[in-house]
Amino acid sequence: MAEYDYDLFVIGGGSGGVRAARISATHGAKVAIAEEFRMGGTCVIRGCVPKKMLVYGSHFAEDLHEAHRFGWDVEGAAFDWPRLRDIVQADVDRLEGLYSVNLGNVGVEIIEQRAVVAGPNAVKLADGKTVSAKYILIATGGWPAPAGCPGEEHALTSNEIFHLEKKPENIIIVGGGYIANEFAGIFHAFGSNVIVANRSEKILRPYDQEIVGRLQEISEAKGIAYRLNAPLEKIEKNDDGTVTVHFRDGGPPQNADVIMVATGRVPNSANLGLEEAGVALDQAGAVSVGDDNRSSVESIYAVGDVTNRVQLTPVAIREGHAFADSVFGGNPRTISYDNIPSAVFSSPPIASVGMTEDEARAKFGEDIKIYRSDFKPMKNVVSGREERALYKMITRGPDETVIGLHMIGPESAEILQGAAVAIVGKMPKKVLDDVVAIHPSMAEELVLFK
Ligand code: NDP
Repeated sequence: MAEYDYDLFVIGGGSGGVRAARISATHGAKVAIAEEFRMGGTCVIRGCVPKKMLVYGSHFAEDLHEAHRFGWDVEGAAFDWPRLRDIVQADVDRLEGLYSVNLGNVGVEIIEQRAVVAGPNAVKLADGKTVSAKYILIATGGWPAPAGCPGEEHALTSNEIFHLEKKPENIIIVGGGYIANEFAGIFHAFGSNVIVANRSEKILRPYDQEIVGRLQEISEAKGIAYRLNAPLEKIEKNDDGTVTVHFRDGGPPQNADVIMVATGRVPNSANLGLEEAGVALDQAGAVSVGDDNRSSVESIYAVGDVTNRVQLTPVAIREGHAFADSVFGGNPRTISYDNIPSAVFSSPPIASVGMTEDEARAKFGEDIKIYRSDFKPMKNVVSGREERALYKMITRGPDETVIGLHMIGPESAEILQGAAVAIVGKMPKKVLDDVVAIHPSMAEELVLFK
């Protein structure tokens, strides 16, 4: 008889957990995965995927508005939030099903209930059953941080925003990060009045601030309002269902139909039996792991947002895959956290890889060179839209190694993905100069920097 019920028990069916379970099973391990909510996790169920679908929906606002400049008459165009919401949710259901099918195809047992750690090799299920596993993988992700002020229960988060009954006329979005800026663009395009309120004066702090400045300029010109240096004081619910939000900035309170809080995500590690089993957590509640994803308990590993390293889906997927290859595939390996490309699907989107200008200056002083291309995309010329794109390249040293690429403009995430190769490959700018431009395109600006 086998010593354990399973070789691997994964707690959490999100991006990292599903990848780890699937690859471990293909390496021959007997695997179970427990998910208490819906298979797919934050990214598929209430994050990247449905958000991107809403972003696509939002693009029609400007395209329809400008259609007449391209010769099209579009009369009577109207936006129907419930229709988009339901179509998006139907696709989320489809994807959730696919995740389960793919796991089943490689023999992973899916357990649709909450599971908690009951010892270094034991997992207790919500139905009271305890099972044993040689290894346990914690992949429980993160959870939106609460507003942290009186009345916080009246605020929605990214968990609930996809299910709104109706489109808000007025929405206050608290935070200045990814989620706040993405949903500001989405709801503004749908016709809501949007106020982005952030506690400090900087939004999107990790991004190149010149690029961020361009987003703010464009957003303000469209009508998105920013209330900066405005920490939340309290949220009041009114009899008519609206909210009144008070800020600690000396300004007047603000009324809205909806307040959404997006002030970061905290690791989902509470009440999982981790401390009791001896798993060390850091101050933020994240599972502390080494490069090999192993926790302070030899048989317990963790990947993804619950470790609070880089809160991005593709990173969690890589961690999960590296875990499976290392533990079950006979190929011990770690992943690199250097030069991770990322994008904010704001309107227009921002994409970035490598060092920002501030970071490069702080580290290399005068040894860097900044190239800029500030241009009006051709589509905006025809449509009469004033928005300009801004691309920045940062190089270092006499051979001008590319160490940073930062962009704001249409399709910037699509364009940057390929260009990120230049940074990861430590290429000199000359290699990009040698690439013949694809004309006319926006991407050609990347090989025409002067
Ligand atoms: P972010 O970490 O992006 O931004 C948090 C924002 O909230 C910052 O502006 C920060 O301000 C502010 N903030 C932080 N703590 C507090 C607080 N206690 N009170 C008030 N304001 C606070 O968080 P998000 O919630 O937008 O997103 C969570 C994570 O999800 C992101 O870090 C990202 O990794 C991931 N994500 C990625 C996306 C993508 O790849 N496109 C899309 C959506 C989410 P300050 O800078 O002043 O501290």
